[in-house]
Amino acid sequence: MIEIRNLQKSYNNTAILKNISLVIQDSEIYGLVGRSGAGKSTLLRCINGLEKYDSGSLKIDGFDIKQHSEKKIRHFRKNIGMIFQHFSLMERKTVYQNVALPMQCWGYDQDSIDKRVRELLKVVELEEKINDKPRMLSGGQKQRVAIARALSLNPKILLCDEATSALDPKTTQSILALLKMINETFNIAIVIVTHQMSVVRKICHKVSILEGGAISASGTASSVFLEQ
Ligand code: ADP
Ligand code: ADP
Repeated sequence: MIEIRNLQKSYNNTAILKNISLVIQDSEIYGLVGRSGAGKSTLLRCINGLEKYDSGSLKIDGFDIKQHSEKKIRHFRKNIGMIFQHFSLMERKTVYQNVALPMQCWGYDQDSIDKRVRELLKVVELEEKINDKPRMLSGGQKQRVAIARALSLNPKILLCDEATSALDPKTTQSILALLKMINETFNIAIVIVTHQMSVVRKICHKVSILEGGAISASGTASSVFLEQ
């Protein structure tokens, strides 16, 4: 699903990503771990098509953003859902409206939006919160809304940027269980960026460790952490 070969990226002549190569299979949960400043978010933004890289290649389902126009990239980005540490919900909108937003932006008709929002809220077990505003929800519930919104356009990949870093351990476990279920039920590849090794141990099939913009180790969680 994601194939990265010798990817390089610099800001102002400082190399931020150095010769990154990795392959993420269709239905894999893949962890990217590393300290703050290691380049994890930059790599996610490259995968997401928000950031251009300097050299190498990055193909998602065979599509390389370097080869295409902005318009094609915009369309292509529907294939990628993303969630964040601080949820990024619209505070003035209800749960329903937050989940509906991407579909409204793409001009879906109201009946399909309505059906899909209800389906997604069932998946994340938040049907009873449909008319609440985010401020009435717990952190875990907000992340569930963000997950429903990220899935609204039927993406092939879900990118999670420190998605459990603001949550307590118990809530973290329930979000990880939800991600695992989504991966298995909908066959969506999930990339988890985190500085929490425990998260990777719990659900990632494979992991790469980023250090100073380069991958220092890759493999199954157990093999990589034995080497550490
Ligand atoms: P991480 O997500 O692992 O904390 P980042 O990808 O955010 O790491 O950052 C990697 C490095 O790139 C850091 O040294 C950061 O200061 C630098 N960096 C990130 N974004 C920019 C930018 N827009 N301009 C210049 N430097 C940047
Ligand atoms: P706007 O922000 O332009 O007022 P909204 O985002 O409020 O539009 O609403 C978009 C559509 O979703 C509207 O047709 C609204 O009636 C519908 N809607 C919002 N909440 C619900 C809900 N809980 N059940 C069914 N439809 C809803």
